[in-house]
Amino acid sequence: MSITAITVAAYVIASLLFILSLAGLSKHESAKSGLTYGIVGMAIALVATVVLVLKTIFDLDSLDLKWVPIVLMFAAIVIGAAVGLWRAKIVEMTGMPELIALLHSFVGLAAVLIGWNGAIEGFDAAGVLPENIRSLTNIHEAEIAIGIFIGAVTLTGSIVANLKLSAKIKSAPLMLPGKNFINVGSLVVFFVLTGFYVAMDTHANQTASYIMLAVITALALFLGWHLVASIGGGDMPVVISMLNSYSGWAAAASGFLLGNDLLIVTGALVGSSGAYLSYIMCKAMNRSFISVIAGGFGIEAGPADDTDYGEHREIQADAAAELLAGASSVVITPGYGMAVAQAQYPVADLTSKLRAKGIDVRFGIHPVAGRLPGHMNVLLAEAKVPYDIVLELDEINDDLAETDVVLVIGANDTVNPAAAEDPGSPIAGMPVLEVWNAKDVIVFKRSMAAGYAGVQNPLFFRDNTQMLFGDAKDRVEDIIAAL
Ligand code: NDP
Repeated sequence: MSITAITVAAYVIASLLFILSLAGLSKHESAKSGLTYGIVGMAIALVATVVLVLKTIFDLDSLDLKWVPIVLMFAAIVIGAAVGLWRAKIVEMTGMPELIALLHSFVGLAAVLIGWNGAIEGFDAAGVLPENIRSLTNIHEAEIAIGIFIGAVTLTGSIVANLKLSAKIKSAPLMLPGKNFINVGSLVVFFVLTGFYVAMDTHANQTASYIMLAVITALALFLGWHLVASIGGGDMPVVISMLNSYSGWAAAASGFLLGNDLLIVTGALVGSSGAYLSYIMCKAMNRSFISVIAGGFGIEAGPADDTDYGEHREIQADAAAELLAGASSVVITPGYGMAVAQAQYPVADLTSKLRAKGIDVRFGIHPVAGRLPGHMNVLLAEAKVPYDIVLELDEINDDLAETDVVLVIGANDTVNPAAAEDPGSPIAGMPVLEVWNAKDVIVFKRSMAAGYAGVQNPLFFRDNTQMLFGDAKDRVEDIIAAL
């Protein structure tokens, strides 16, 4: 069997493993095996690609210094793997979303560079298609323009997402005048420019074709920045999965350019699963999918909230412990603050202590709690909280009215009654955990500050709500001690 046939077989196996990986990752119980399939698939894909590249280099009679590309390739692999290992080792769970956004930007950058390489190397040197099939040059040129466009949108969009998630820039939406016109106009200009680029004879008009591509690149870089900058804090979860989807399409576009089937398959898997995840998240948050992917199309900034909600009440850990000891049902709704405080271990401890006293303890997980889809589930699984008491928003919301005590641990936007009751609120319509229906609510946080969406939370001022201030981990430990 030839080396090429073996690598094709390896690509098919890797593609199947990626599909099994996605299927595995869709459930808690099978997530670990899903991850293993993904790692094995990626290892096979990497080895097969390296072998294929080595074969191509050794087959090239014209190349005198064959070791130069080989050294460059292995240097890139070693440096990339070292940086990847280092970052993955030191990243905190709370820093995951921004790291993922940064990784998406690398896919975008790679797609832009591959597109430009395709344009500079030219059709024949790229060796993608035989010389005699000249009519296919148009397809090749369309692939270049589209690949660069998607890649550049992903690049700057992901950088803005990274900056917003790491709080280096404000998460409030940028409201440039005529923002919808800017987005739609940029898309129209891209299509027109791509049409010209494909129609022109790029071999005869090299300089003009480069200028055209440079304009497309600049336009896409601007559009990526503007699209994500225009989306407000509350819609960021969708933006992350949307950029995940874009990075998949960017990879698929690069696959077409490089004639690499595995890249096309993998890119399409990432692109379509990311798009579906964005759709599910939009549904969960009652947001228009089109509006969010079009950079907040149709969403206008609401008026500033200067409502006086009155006074809040405070509670101390020992009184909270007393309240819990007298309860027969408790629901814990964790949020981003639990991740920041790394409070999942004491929370798991508190749960088992309360359950040992015969108290019914369950968790209510909002689909966008934390900063990552499934963020809370991962933390609770890490702390060995049994899966069967961890319920989704839909599964627990109706039971909250019959619950004695709700512990809101570092959650804010996901338990904000304004979403359900104030049509003028920036998060209006987003389904939330209706914790205020419970008999007593204890909110763990450090101050009266707003949540990620920057919206004041009237829950803190309700008669049945008491605030337990301080770091969530310390306060939960205090309660355990008092119990
Ligand atoms: P929020 O981000 O709305 O609020 C977190 C709260 O935790 C804050 O009010 C903060 O208050 C408190 N907190 C922070 N650190 C600590 C600590 N050490 N101890 C105790 N409390 C702490 O949380 P939610 O999970 O309710 O909502 C998630 C938000 O993030 C939503 O708006 C969602 O749209 C957005 N988002 C979600 C993503 C996802 O995929 N899940 C991705 C990107 C954004 P204080 O500072 O006073 O302590």
